[in-house]
Amino acid sequence: MPYDPVESHLKIEKLVVRGEGGDQKRRYYRFRIDRWYGGIVTADCVGCGLFCKFCWVSDKVRSSPMKIGRFYRAEDVAERLRSLMMKRRLWRARVSGGEPTIGKDHLLSLLKILDGFVGEFILETNGILIGWDEDYAKKLASYKSLHVRVSLKGCNEKEFELLTGADQRGFKLQLQALKNLIDYGVSCHPSVMTSFSPKSSFINLLERLKQIDPILEEEVEVEELILYPHVVKRLKKYGLKYFVAHPPDRIPPEQI
Ligand code: SF4
Repeated sequence: MPYDPVESHLKIEKLVVRGEGGDQKRRYYRFRIDRWYGGIVTADCVGCGLFCKFCWVSDKVRSSPMKIGRFYRAEDVAERLRSLMMKRRLWRARVSGGEPTIGKDHLLSLLKILDGFVGEFILETNGILIGWDEDYAKKLASYKSLHVRVSLKGCNEKEFELLTGADQRGFKLQLQALKNLIDYGVSCHPSVMTSFSPKSSFINLLERLKQIDPILEEEVEVEELILYPHVVKRLKKYGLKYFVAHPPDRIPPEQI
């Protein structure tokens, strides 16, 4: 039975978030520099409400959110990111590793602290909570350095359900997230996992994006599967077939 993607996010939130308001803490397990976007300072949080079969996050992190990492205040996360930025002279930052929109107060506090210091904060999200809670997009509109990348799981409802195991209505929430962000003037673009999609699905998706806003069709980013060993194992387990994929050391430069 497919699970409810919103309920699943709210459920995991109880495990990886503590407290409320400006003091809300979130569980993180790593701070690092990553190669994407030409070099980006990254805080890896724990916990996501989707269970994508192609996800690069390790099984250990995905299956034991209570045992991995520890709770951090927004100030502490900002400090770790700032210190890495200064050290490496990199001015882009993000939260990855899990779904960063879990723990709304925590994320908004983190953005507030970093706004004005960071050149660009890239919020990589599956969009479920932003599609479900319009106020989330409204609040995100306050941060000048923010850009949101909504990562669509497949090109339509059916593919979303196949790839995530979640109820296919989640795909509409992903598209709604883009609409909410556009409506509140938040800088954003869609990326889409196309490795499991026939070309016709992608073309239909472009039309749906255009109906939300023509800029989304123009700026869509293609995301393709990376064959990390644990991902290959997982795909085998689920018997999931793909059209296109890349070994980790041979990712096309335009996708880095
Ligand atoms: S939404 Fe992202 S972090 Fe969550 S399971 Fe899917 S790929 Fe992994």
